[in-house]
Amino acid sequence: MAHTMTADLHTHTAFSDGTDSPAELLAAARAAGLTTVAITDHDTANGWDEAAAHADAGMRVLPGAEFSTKHPAADGELTTVHLLGYLFDRDDPGIAGEWKRVRDDRAGRGARIVENLIAAGYPITVERVREIAGPSSIGRPHIARALMEVGVIGSVSEAFDELLHDGSPYYTPLRSTTLAEGVAMITAAGGVPVIAHARARAAAAVLTAEVIETLVPLGLAGLEVRHPDHDDAARAELADIAVNLGLLQTGSSDYHGTHKTLRIGQERTADTVVEQLIDRGGVAPFEG
Ligand code: AMP
Ligand code: FE
Ligand code: FE
Ligand code: ZN
Repeated sequence: MAHTMTADLHTHTAFSDGTDSPAELLAAARAAGLTTVAITDHDTANGWDEAAAHADAGMRVLPGAEFSTKHPAADGELTTVHLLGYLFDRDDPGIAGEWKRVRDDRAGRGARIVENLIAAGYPITVERVREIAGPSSIGRPHIARALMEVGVIGSVSEAFDELLHDGSPYYTPLRSTTLAEGVAMITAAGGVPVIAHARARAAAAVLTAEVIETLVPLGLAGLEVRHPDHDDAARAELADIAVNLGLLQTGSSDYHGTHKTLRIGQERTADTVVEQLIDRGGVAPFEG
């Protein structure tokens, strides 16, 4: 029982850059043998209501989101850090205000990246990328799909490696709140902050044990230790940091539907950890 793992606490629906509706995502979670799923779309809670409607006695849903934040690197360069927040009040003025700013910023920014690519001769259109994005604002994974459709590149990861990475000439950054502000904002809204994939991509260099320690008094509750982008050394290092700082350890797939090859439930969180997150959360999970 102590080691039972039936939770996946990091998933994306079509309300951000996943491809499943919340109902489809919960069906996939059931098929994978999960009993708890967190819906963590990028910078939005728009998937919560549909997820709540499809939660039942066998499938509990933790409402959540993945917040885009920035933390300065040693050279002062602002680096993107993804922060998961669980079980917070989405109507809290701090969160609602932050998301309005992000929405306004994202609305123009996705199209700007597309226009940069069009100007360089790539045969895609803003209209088609908007169609692919559906109810979400345009994100880079949607642009990657459009590039694949016209045969310019073969996969989402190839699109990122060649055209969409943060250092690309076509890239336009998003303005974000700082990591410390994000942790404090989620905590103030009754939520439970957990740093996402701390050893993936550029964030790895800035998220030292010392930086993570400064976030604990602000309410940081845990680290996502098991993630598809973490190798064994990264998992061991993060588990050590978590033990030293008294932080919870989660494991999650970061499922994005067919935008990525990850399977829902391929990384999991212990049921005992889920109970501790729920104890700390300001709102109740959705269940039947
Ligand atoms: P955006 O929100 O437009 O900045 O795009 C960020 C999203 O793109 C992330 O949430 C990931 O889903 C995806 N992403 C970022 N870097 C990569 C990468 N190297 N390979 C595949 N997907 C990525
Ligand atoms: Fe994503
Ligand atoms: Fe992320
Ligand atoms: Zn994610």
